[in-house]
Amino acid sequence: MGAAKESPGHAEERNPIHMNIADIKTDNRKRIYSYLREQSQATKQEIAYTLQLSLPTVTQNLTYLTELGLISCENKVINRAGGRNPVAYSYIPDARVAIGLDITRHHIKSIVTDLDGQIIKYVYRRKDYQRNDDYLKVLGNEVENIIAMAGLQREKILGVGIAVPGLIDRTGEYVYDGRVIDNHGMTRAEFSRYISFKTKLIHDSAAAGYSEIVHSPDIHNACYVSLGSSIGGSVFINDKVYLGDGLFSCEFGHLNLIPDGLPCYCGQKGCFDSYCNSEVLSSLTGGDLFTFFDRLNNGDEKLRTIWDTYLQNLATLITEIRMMFGSSIIIGGEIGPFIDKYLPQLQVKIDVKSPFSEKSASFLHACRNKMEAIASGAALYFVQEFLDTALETTD
Ligand SMILES: [Zn+2]
Repeated sequence: MGAAKESPGHAEERNPIHMNIADIKTDNRKRIYSYLREQSQATKQEIAYTLQLSLPTVTQNLTYLTELGLISCENKVINRAGGRNPVAYSYIPDARVAIGLDITRHHIKSIVTDLDGQIIKYVYRRKDYQRNDDYLKVLGNEVENIIAMAGLQREKILGVGIAVPGLIDRTGEYVYDGRVIDNHGMTRAEFSRYISFKTKLIHDSAAAGYSEIVHSPDIHNACYVSLGSSIGGSVFINDKVYLGDGLFSCEFGHLNLIPDGLPCYCGQKGCFDSYCNSEVLSSLTGGDLFTFFDRLNNGDEKLRTIWDTYLQNLATLITEIRMMFGSSIIIGGEIGPFIDKYLPQLQVKIDVKSPFSEKSASFLHACRNKMEAIASGAALYFVQEFLDTALETTD
C-alpha cells in the first residue's frame, strides 16, 4: 500500500510555486521514504540520482528516518575491485504496526498489520457481544493477547482501530445509530476503557471498504457493498472515504427494491436489505453460509432457485449504484468471499439491465480480502495517518 496511492496528487503537491520551505522539506522526506518502500533497499547515491536530490539533502533525511527507526543501514556487499562497499539503506515494514478489532454480534476478530498493510497476526474469537463492562474487559484482553502472540514491542504500536456495526458520529466519538447490535450511543471512551493505546471508532463497512481500496492500487473511485446480516457500504472518491453531509451516504441496503414490499428493520418496506442480506440465504441452512454454498455447489435445486432470485435482486442493486456513482463496485461482506465463482452469472444479469450496453466485468469486482477486511481496514486508518503525518517537518 502507500506509494502507488500517493501518486495521483503528487505532481501538483511538488509544484514549487505552491510550496514553502517546510513543504519542500517534507516532500523530499516523503519521496525518499516512498522510494525506499518501493525498492526495499537503496544506496544514498541511487536515491540522489533517481530523485534528483543533492547528496547532503539525501544524507540528512536518511539520518532522520534512521533515527525514527523507519529504515536501517548496513554495508552492502558488492564485488567491486578497489572500491569501498557502499552503505545500503533498507525499508523496515514493521517499524510501526497497528491493531484492528472487528466486533460483531457473535465474534471478535483481531489483527496486527504492518506499514505495508500486511497482516502479521490474526486471531478469531467466538464471543457474543454484550453491552456491559465484562465485554469491554474482553476487548482489552484481546488487544493484550494479540500483542503477546505477535511479540510486539509496545512502542511500535500506532493505535487500535475498533470497528463496530453502526453509524459513527462525525466526531468519531460515539455510535450515532446502533441498531444492528445494541451499541446505540456507546462512546469510543467506553470501547477503549481497557485498551491502553490510542483508539479510533470506525463504522465496519467503512473499514472493510478502506481495506479494499488500500490494497487495490488500480482503483481510486469505488463503492464497496457489504452484504452481511445487514447491508451497508462505503464510497471512496480519490482514495478518500466520502461521508456526505449526513451519515447515510452509503446505506445501500435502504434503497427501495419493491414498493410496499417486505418489512425492513429500519421501519420501511421493500428495502434491498430485506431481499439481499446474508440471512436470506443462511437461514435456509441453519444459519451457516458455508453450508448454503456447499449445498448450492452440490446441485441443491431449491437453493439454486433461491440463489438465482438473490442474484437477480443484487443485479438491480448493482445497476442502481453504477448509475449513481459510475465507479468501480466491490462486493464484500459475508457474501463477498463466496461471490467469485458466481460473478459471470451476476454480470449477465447486470449487463442486460445496462442502459448504455456496458459490460459490468469492467467495473464489478469481488472483494480481495476474504476474512479479515474489517479489522484490517480499522488498523489501516492508523497506518495511513502515520504515513500522512509522521514525516512532516516545520523546520
Ligand atoms: Zn430499510
